[in-house]
Amino acid sequence: MKRIGLLTSGGDAPGMNAAIRSVVRTAIYFGMEVYGIERGYAGLIDDEFVPLEMRSVSDIVQRGGTKLRTARCLEMLTKEGQKQAVATLDKHKIDGLVVIGGDGSFRGAKVLSEEYGVPTIGIPGTIDNDLQYTDYTLGFDTAVNTCLDIINKLRDTMTSHERISVVEVMGRHCGDIALYSGIASGAEIIIVPEINFDMEDVVMKINRSRASGKHSNIIVVAEGVMSADQFAKQLQEVTEYTVRPTCIGHVQRGGSPSMADRMLAAQFGNKAVRLLCEGIGNRVVGIHKNEIIDMDIIEAVSMKKQFNYELYETLQMISM
Ligand code: ATP
Repeated sequence: MKRIGLLTSGGDAPGMNAAIRSVVRTAIYFGMEVYGIERGYAGLIDDEFVPLEMRSVSDIVQRGGTKLRTARCLEMLTKEGQKQAVATLDKHKIDGLVVIGGDGSFRGAKVLSEEYGVPTIGIPGTIDNDLQYTDYTLGFDTAVNTCLDIINKLRDTMTSHERISVVEVMGRHCGDIALYSGIASGAEIIIVPEINFDMEDVVMKINRSRASGKHSNIIVVAEGVMSADQFAKQLQEVTEYTVRPTCIGHVQRGGSPSMADRMLAAQFGNKAVRLLCEGIGNRVVGIHKNEIIDMDIIEAVSMKKQFNYELYETLQMISM
């Protein structure tokens, strides 16, 4: 393998730049050339290739976002778009491709590998942590830390005014950001798409905590259930305490990656290139039980994300 391509696709996530750096430096170490493809599959189809050298990736390990930029590209869902993508790869004599993104991006990678024979390796880059085959995706840890920082600040003001804070976090259909930020911030209640909630039960928990001397409450709501505004409105109708909604929003997607995300990025990028070096394609890399792993793309994208009910029970037992 002499020349590889690299793109970031779907929603951006902190740690993508650190992964770009790791891919480029590892490839150069093994004597390969690297072309960055800007704006994900859109740039692949529209021929937006840039050579990446050792110094092209200096000073980005600590930056959020993605130097290559990212896009959602409907054309990649069509046969014409896919053929154009493969033609562009051929034009630049790209022997293998690394795709950093979420499950949608992996489906694109699967098409390139399976239907067009382009050896492709996927690196899981999404704050949502919604991929079952890997314990963590790149960006999740940083996003949760951003939520914690904001929830800590909300707790200060909510306690002073004896209010209830309803905090909306991202994650689409996956409740992991809500679960982890809820547990780590000491939130009393989390509302996630995986578990039905009952407003009477929420009110009962709030009343119980107030009766035991608590002066504020934090409720973390995953965006996949409803907005903070909607939840706060419903809750305000049935509680005597003042409720204040906060939507953390896109702040969760930015910021300097945490140590955990930088370490994942270094290892994922390195592993992806090593696989291509060995002539292995059609895989995704991940982490399971603290070990860097790789798995068939098709197997990985077909696994259904399982919610961690044990962690949820832990929250129920320690947050009151
Ligand atoms: P995030 O989890 O952050 O949203 P993602 O990678 O899941 O990231 P998507 O928008 O679902 O984000 O997918 C990114 C891009 O991957 C799409 O815009 C499209 O170009 C490509 N893609 C998604 N699904 C397919 C598919 N079935 N076939 C080919 N390409 C696809």
